[in-house]
Amino acid sequence: MDLADLKSGRLGAADYAQNFADGHPPLNRTQALIEAERCYYCYDAPCQTACPTGIDIPSFIQRVAQDNVRGAAEAILTANPLGGMCARVCPTEVLCEQACVRNTNESKPVEIGLLQRFAVEGHFANPGAKPLFERAALTGKRIAVVGAGPAGLAAAHGLARRGHDVTLFDANAKLGGLNEYGLATYKVAGGFAQKEVDWLLSIGGISPKLDCRLGRDITLDGLLAEYDAVFLGLGLAGVNALGIAEPELPGLRDAVDFIAELRQSAPEIVAVGRRVVVIGGGMTAVDAAVQSRLLGAEQVTMVYRRGPEGLSASEYEQHWAQTHGVTLRCWARPLSVEAAGGVLRGMRFAATKLEGGKLVDTGEQFFLEADMVLRAIGQTYEAAPAGAAIELQGGRIKTDAQFRTSVARVWAGGDCRHGGRDLTVEAVEHGKRAAESIHAELTGVAHG
Ligand SMILES: Cc1cc2nc3c(=O)[nH]c(=O)nc-3n(C[C@H](O)[C@H](O)[C@H](O)COP(=O)(O)OP(=O)(O)OC[C@H]3O[C@@H](n4cnc5c(N)ncnc54)[C@H](O)[C@@H]3O)c2cc1C
Ligand code: SF4
Repeated sequence: MDLADLKSGRLGAADYAQNFADGHPPLNRTQALIEAERCYYCYDAPCQTACPTGIDIPSFIQRVAQDNVRGAAEAILTANPLGGMCARVCPTEVLCEQACVRNTNESKPVEIGLLQRFAVEGHFANPGAKPLFERAALTGKRIAVVGAGPAGLAAAHGLARRGHDVTLFDANAKLGGLNEYGLATYKVAGGFAQKEVDWLLSIGGISPKLDCRLGRDITLDGLLAEYDAVFLGLGLAGVNALGIAEPELPGLRDAVDFIAELRQSAPEIVAVGRRVVVIGGGMTAVDAAVQSRLLGAEQVTMVYRRGPEGLSASEYEQHWAQTHGVTLRCWARPLSVEAAGGVLRGMRFAATKLEGGKLVDTGEQFFLEADMVLRAIGQTYEAAPAGAAIELQGGRIKTDAQFRTSVARVWAGGDCRHGGRDLTVEAVEHGKRAAESIHAELTGVAHG
């Protein structure tokens, strides 16, 4: 019997360096100037409407064209304090670049994401540059931000800028949330997540408290007694189960844990199967599948229970997976994990089809040999740490349009809030707007 082949160090050092280098290298100055000239500087620009943070895209691109990197960065970071990370990870093909009018004329949009990256990283790379933002006069108000992912970081920055003192709590050992622990390594090469965190903290007035978990080390009632307001940016800490027996086996694990391990270690020490099956059809599944290949897995299959049109990974991501040798198998659901003597052998699947709008089994089954099976079938909000008082909707925190929860003086945003698309850029927008709302409520000054 062919036993599980799960090990680290499948490739040589040069292969790892190449595989985990920047997936989309940045533009140099000449390329940026040429690309910026392609912009029509539209009035009422559709790209700006399509950006969840409403960046004034024509304005920042015009500044790039004028060789004014600082001015371009200012236009971006005023609307989106995590504009650097968003430039790297936004699915621009379904956001700003999809709306670019150049698509109609030439089927090729202006490369807004790459220009944004050029401007923000160009500014960050100039340590002598005058700071873009000054803190407002201190208000004496203290705010607890719990969760230091994009939502919490954007909220903390927006509040600190307005003169409030922020304590930023996170259960992890580093700030950044999924920017630090979740996004694919080739999207955030060069330690960019921590560079951006450093820039955000340089505003002053933000005190991080790490390894501090709401529900274990602190409580919501305790925070409300000590602080004037609380923002919850808790993300999605739970993962969905497969709904079948899942024995404890080396090699059967959550894709998000696998990705987090890879983000926090050198690739040569991360174990990967020779044959890998990834269950799911979203961004996490694609990232896990592609990174398994980059770690040296010979055969990687993504299995999704519906047809290709139902995949939440964008066409661009599907193409990225295919060009990295990932096989996509649609219309199949997991039936059982197969193991022998405590060793993973593979997974059995039932073929599915749609019947009267319902997903049903066709009666056919198949088996995929695997040394590693990664679950990537979605994450869930864990309500317990925040306490029972917070009202939920669809399993996530319910808020009003100002991001206020059902509990007075508590705001929430990012993935833990009901009604979003689970994107970095949306989490940033929630944190930004919650900061405006908290500021307005604490000071009576709207949008200061
Ligand atoms: C594998 C993967 C790849 C992705 N790739 C992309 C991509 O390419 N592009 C894109 O736009 N989006 C991507 N996303 C989605 C994006 O990362 C999220 O939408 C975004 O990070 C949400 O931000 P957030 O601040 O709400 O939550 P998170 O980033 O999840 O941050 C939440 C923070 O809260 C902390 N926390 C949780 N519970 C507690 C507690 N009880 N006490 C204290 N702290 C707590 C966590 O430690 C964490 O730091 C990806 C997601 C995953 C999982
Ligand atoms: S933040 Fe994202 S969606 Fe908005 S302009 Fe930048 S790359 Fe496009």
